Amino acid sequence: MLLTIGLAAAGIYFSASNTVAALICFFAAVWLLPLKLTRYILTVKSIAAILLFLLIAKEQIYHQSSDNGLMTVTFIDVGQGDSTLIQFPDGKTMLIDAGTADYSASVANTLKENHIHTIDYLVGTHPHADHIGGMPAIISAFTVKTYIQPEMSGFIQENNYFADRLNTALKQAGIQAFTASFSDEIASGDGWTAEVLSPRKNAVFEDLNDYSLIIKVTYGKTAFMFTGDAGYNAELEILDEDLSCDVLKVGHHGSFGSTCTAFLAQTDPSIGVISVGKENENNLPNDYVLQRLTEEGIRILRTDESGTIVIQSDGNEVKVIE
Ligand SMILES: [Zn+2]
Repeated sequence: MLLTIGLAAAGIYFSASNTVAALICFFAAVWLLPLKLTRYILTVKSIAAILLFLLIAKEQIYHQSSDNGLMTVTFIDVGQGDSTLIQFPDGKTMLIDAGTADYSASVANTLKENHIHTIDYLVGTHPHADHIGGMPAIISAFTVKTYIQPEMSGFIQENNYFADRLNTALKQAGIQAFTASFSDEIASGDGWTAEVLSPRKNAVFEDLNDYSLIIKVTYGKTAFMFTGDAGYNAELEILDEDLSCDVLKVGHHGSFGSTCTAFLAQTDPSIGVISVGKENENNLPNDYVLQRLTEEGIRILRTDESGTIVIQSDGNEVKVIE
C-alpha cells in the first residue's frame, strides 16, 4: 500500500514536468492496488481521472510559468555588440539583435537557460556584424516565427556580407522577412505592445546606423526603448513622438553621435543600459554620453561591467534583477 501511495505521489510530482513519467507512476500505482477484483474497474476509472487531473495540472502550471504578470528583458553580454531578449508576460518571445557570430553561443545559451525553443519575433535592427552576425546560428538552432528588419529603400546598399549570410539562413529555414517602419506595431499581446518609431518610410540617411529600428515596448505603465545604433539624425526625426520610457538601451554602444540631449530629455528614462565590449577599440562608451546620462540622474548599467543585465517589469514599475 505504501508503494502505491509513493507511486501516486511520484505521479503528482512528475505531472509538473513530465507527462509520460507521471502516467507511468499513476498506472503502476493503480496496478499495485491489492484488490484484484476491483483492479480492472479502478484502472478504467483511473485512466479518466488521471487524464482529467493532468489536464487541470498542466493548465495550472502553464499559467504559473507564463502568466506571472512579469515581462523580463535580458540585455545579453555579447561583448562589443547588441542582443536583447524580451520575454513577454503571455510567454511570447522577442530577440532584438544577436551580436556578432563569435557570441552566438552566448545568445543561444541565454535562450536555452530560459527554456526558449521558439522565438516569436526575431528583430535585426540594422545589417551590421555586431547586430546580425550571430543571426544565422540562432536561426538554425531555434524555431523562428517572424523575422523583422528596417525599411531601408532609401539606402544604396554596398555589398553586405553579413546581410547576405542572414538572407541565406532565412531562406534555408523558410522564414519570411517583414520590413517595418515608423508607426508599425510589430507585436502585441495582453497589456503589451511593440511599436516602431524609426526609420520613417522612405527615409534617406547617409549612415546605415540611422536606419536602425527604434522600438518602444510598452507593458502597462512601463516602457523600454530599443535604439540599435541610431544616431542624432534619426533621433531628431522623432522628437514629436511619445518617447517617454523607463529603460533606454543607449544608442550605438554609447557613441558620441547618439543619445543627443533633446532625445534624452524626451525619453527621460530612469535606467540607461549600455551594451558594450570590454576595452573596445573605439573606447566606448563615450565620456560625454556618460556625462549626459549622469547629469539627468539616470542609473547607468553597462554589460562590460555587469555582464548580462536583467530588468523586469510588472506593468507598474521596473526592477533590476541583481
Ligand atoms: Zn552596433
